Amino acid sequence: MIRHKLLLLGMTETDDFEKADFILFNTCAIRENAENHLYGELGQVKGIALRRKDLFVAISGCVMQEEKPVRYVLNHFPFVSLVFGTNNIDAFYDLLEESIKAHATYVDVRSQPTALVESPEEDTNGRTSRYTAFVDIAYGCDKFCTYCIVPYTRGKERSRKKEDILDEVRFLKEKGYRQVTLLGQNVDSYGKDFGDKYAFADLLEAVAQTGIERIRFTTPYPSDFNDQVFDVMAKYDNVMPSLHLPMQSGSDAVLKRMNRRYTRKEYLDIVHSLRERLPDVYLTTDIIVGFPGETDEDFKQTLSLCEEAHFDGAFTFLFSSRPGTPASRMKDDTPEDVKHERFDRLKDLIDKLSEEKAKTMVNTIQEVLFESVSRKDPSRISGYDRHGKLVHVKGDVSLIGQIRKVRILESHTYSLVGEIVND
Ligand code: SAH
Ligand code: SF4
Repeated sequence: MIRHKLLLLGMTETDDFEKADFILFNTCAIRENAENHLYGELGQVKGIALRRKDLFVAISGCVMQEEKPVRYVLNHFPFVSLVFGTNNIDAFYDLLEESIKAHATYVDVRSQPTALVESPEEDTNGRTSRYTAFVDIAYGCDKFCTYCIVPYTRGKERSRKKEDILDEVRFLKEKGYRQVTLLGQNVDSYGKDFGDKYAFADLLEAVAQTGIERIRFTTPYPSDFNDQVFDVMAKYDNVMPSLHLPMQSGSDAVLKRMNRRYTRKEYLDIVHSLRERLPDVYLTTDIIVGFPGETDEDFKQTLSLCEEAHFDGAFTFLFSSRPGTPASRMKDDTPEDVKHERFDRLKDLIDKLSEEKAKTMVNTIQEVLFESVSRKDPSRISGYDRHGKLVHVKGDVSLIGQIRKVRILESHTYSLVGEIVND
């Protein structure tokens, strides 16, 4: 959205700090290292800002919703012109004007949103891809998992109106977009604020009926999940066969301390129901290692749940203490090297599971939507198959934006390599 607003001002893009007249940092507060990364980047920009008094530096995003980092920025990086949060993005031009008038860093961070995004056109033109798009369906989160900063930085859960979402999807489809990913912190609690428990399944069905070629969604929350979502996934070919269902831990004791509102058994019940009803669906997850007080026995439970669920992939995170969250005040006596050792063991297991699955795909034909030139090898074009697996083929940029059949030739831990099959 801000990118679009900047483009409308006539700006063009560069990745090079030295060439830029305007630098905007968009920040994520989920883990502490992202915050440290920001300070590192600001350190780099400092030298340029000292030489170039006309350089405009702005910072936004979740980190700026917290008091301490804002204070840190003001104290250490006074050359920053503007600091704003996640709740007043829509007022960006006003903020820009005020900060240009101001003599010191202009700070405007609000705890309440000023408006929800309702205009589809505005959102669409600012997108970086011409073929795949994220579509917000809900903002904020009411779950308050004890480790997580999102409810504090993003505020209460607010669902967008169904008609606005559908308008946006139709608009994207008309513009030639081939895939939308419906986005929210808990997509399956979409509509609860309207008092409708099954609203997400209904919304997903309505999006499927727009006829857009590929639909994904992230992230569902296990205890809000209902079988109606499986019904829609089974009924519509344009809802992709992949499900990202964060489990966080396999131990009931840890899940309880995390304030996750499901048990190991309830999580596994959903997995079994998925495998039974939709055997072709790829299942991925998020796992946190080293939560305060996690014992060896708790960790073993996580490993065994991974084996039982037979995940096709997972994002694994080392617990990062976030200021102001209940978990940051919990007793934590597990030594750091034990946490790292657990993290490595879990990663080895996840890699083994995803390699096993990837091997079964060799010699199969998969449909791939090509998105970009491969970062490692410019003679390759990369895209994703229907399950969300990364696939590379030899080819040129004309493939980007196309959905083509690909024969899988090789499997690797995180990707597949194939060749285009001409029909
Ligand atoms: N709303 C989604 C995920 C949001 S954040 C959900 O509930 O599943 C994405 C992932 O970051 C989480 O699933 C969790 O695994 C991880 N995460 C969040 N806070 C964290 C923290 N303090 N330390 C480590 N990982 C964290
Ligand atoms: Fe954070 Fe939990 Fe909300 Fe996900 S559900 S955003 S992990 S508080």
